[in-house]
Formats: sequence, structure tokens, C-alpha cells
Amino acid sequence: MDNQKNREIRLKSRPVGLPTSDNFELVETTVPTPGAGQVLVRNSYISVDPYMRGRMVDRKSYVPPFQIGETLQGHAVGQVVASNSPAAKVGDFVQSMNGWREWYVADGAQVQKFEPAAPIQSYLGALGMPGMTAYAGLLRIGALKDGERVFVSAASGAVGSVVCQIAKAKGCYVVGSVGSDEKAAYLKSLGVDATINYRTAGDLTAAVAAAFPEGIDVYFENVGGAHLEAAINNMRVGGRIPLCGMIDMYNATELPPGPRNLAMAIGLGLTLRGFVVSSHYDMLADFHRDMAKWAKEGKMKWRETVVDGVEHAPEAFIGLFKGDNVGKMVVRVGPDKAV
Ligand code: NDP
Repeated sequence: MDNQKNREIRLKSRPVGLPTSDNFELVETTVPTPGAGQVLVRNSYISVDPYMRGRMVDRKSYVPPFQIGETLQGHAVGQVVASNSPAAKVGDFVQSMNGWREWYVADGAQVQKFEPAAPIQSYLGALGMPGMTAYAGLLRIGALKDGERVFVSAASGAVGSVVCQIAKAKGCYVVGSVGSDEKAAYLKSLGVDATINYRTAGDLTAAVAAAFPEGIDVYFENVGGAHLEAAINNMRVGGRIPLCGMIDMYNATELPPGPRNLAMAIGLGLTLRGFVVSSHYDMLADFHRDMAKWAKEGKMKWRETVVDGVEHAPEAFIGLFKGDNVGKMVVRVGPDKAV
């Protein structure tokens, strides 16, 4: 691998508002040589995720902030191409947090081996962290019961599209909110009962009311803002709202007001409960078992929006906030099979 070039993306400056390509820097380095106990990995796909926007802010949170001048991190899948470690051999597929780069060296014990039962990029989406978020968020935090009425925002995305299908597999009535008619058509193809295009719907509370004449049992919150208010206005007594994400405010330069109608949660006895997926990995075996079963029964499908080239990772990331993706947004940074 002597003189083989590696390309990676570093944080150049902290974004204010919607990130721009100027906040990122493409840096060319030489592929490192693995030392004793180490492996060299060629990444195939890297993940860009909305939560990374929070890590670009210099503040205390559940994960430390990215540092300016350092290579960004995130989920990645790839293959071991050289090994000095008994823990992983050449050809092993591995997952890691060493994303935003083409190649990396790591301790053999630090990378997580897996045997792909589906195209490897699936492990960044439906079969990976976003799928697990949907599973834990809906079933544990949302305490979903069969046959309930479920509203999902950012419904055609990585998390949302899995939420919708788990709810359908549980015999629920499911309505998804999306930002385009193309995404609405995609959700219909997954068996979702109805969709709301929030960009064209006008009064969101009225649109949600029309879709839920009997109200909502579980609102899976991915967006916040007007979506949360519209959902609260339409919740049934005892309804649950798993607070998964609020992408509508990730680029806000001032804290938005509201939800103005939160007091309704008192009379309706609502449960609004936040969660971070990393606290729920005790459900991983159940998640894998159920996803395999649903996929086999044709009840769980997924897709990715693939952007090519690590140099385009910043655009792919920014695209999450513009709705550029259907399903999981991933960046292809190398061949599917390197050896
Ligand atoms: P998605 O694949 O859903 O991509 C983001 C989508 O959000 C876009 O495609 C867009 O779709 C929608 N969106 C972007 N901006 C807005 C806006 N202002 N208003 C409404 N919709 C918007 O991303 P993920 O599935 O990875 O993440 C979904 C949510 O889940 C995020 O809030 C994320 O932070 C959260 N999350 C939380 C985790 C946890 O542990 N709590 C773990 C993983 C994700 P459209 O065109 O439909 O608007």
C-alpha cells in the first residue's frame, strides 16, 4: 500500500445555520501501514446522519463535539485488506466509527466483524443504527400495541421508513409525513395507509386531523416544531410520543418557541419520552431476529440514496436537511468488495 492515497473529510469551521461546503475540508494523506495487532481497512460506505450536526457545535452533549481540524467520525462499513491481528483476517467485513475517510488503521480488537446477510450498506441503515433506533423507539419508548394509530414524521427516511413498517407489521394504521410526492409514493409502496406532504398540506393540524379522525395513539417524533404541535393537537388520551429527533431545529440560530400547546399533555395524560439509541442495545438480538423475519415475510423493505465519493460527503450530509434522501443517505467511498 506504499504511497497509496487516502482521502478524508475534516471539520474546517463550526457551521452557523445550515452547514455549507466551506465548513469542511478534503485532505489527502498516505494510507497508513498497520502495526502490531492492527488491521488496515478499506471503507466501502460511510454514513452521514442528522445527529452529526449536533456534534459540530462546541457544547456538552451525550457525545463529545467534533474538533476543528480533526477527521470527522461516523459509522462505516468496509473490509480488512491487511492484518497483523488474530482478531480479524483479510477479507473480513467490519463496522466501525471510522467514517468520513477511505482507509484507516485500527486495533484488530476495535473493529466489529459482521457477516453480511444483505448488501453491506444496509448495515448503515435499516439493519444498523437507524433501524435499531426505529425498533427501540417505537416498541420500547412508544410501547406500541397491535392495531394502534401511528403518526410518523420524516417518514420516508432511514429511521422513519422502518418505524412505518414495524407499525404495519403490528397491524397498525400508519400515516407518514414527508416533504415530497415522490416520497409519499414510496411510503405507499411500503404499505403505509396515508401520507401528508407537509410542504403542500397548509394547516398541518387540520391535515393530521383529517388523517386521524379518531386521533393518534403514538406519534414518532423525528422533526419537532409545527409537526409536534400538530401531533399534540390530535393525540388520544394516554397517547405516547417517543422523542427521537427534532431535525427542524438542528440548524436554528435561535431556539424556536413552543410547542405552544404542551399543556394539552396534562389533560390527555400524554407521555413524551426522549431516548438515545445507544442506551437500548440490549434489544439488538430481538431487533435482528424480528427484522430478518419481517424481511422474509416481505413486510420490511429499505433503500438507500447513494452519493459517490468521499469528496461529496459534505454535500450528502447537508442534503439531509434539504430532504435530498429517500431511505438512508450513504456515501460510497470504495468498492463493495475490496479483496
Ligand atoms: P432521515 O433519513 O430521515 O433524513 C432526514 C430527513 O428529514 C430528510 O430527508 C427530510 O425528509 C427530513 N427533514 C429535514 N429537515 C426537515 C425539516 N426542517 N422539517 C421536516 N422534515 C425535515 O434521517 P434519519 O432517519 O437518520 O434521522 C431521522 C431523525 O431521527 C432525526 O431527527 C435524527 O436526529 C433522529 N435520530 C435519533 C436517534 C436517537 O438515538 N434518538 C438516532 C438516529 C436518528 P423530508 O423530505 O420528508 O422533509
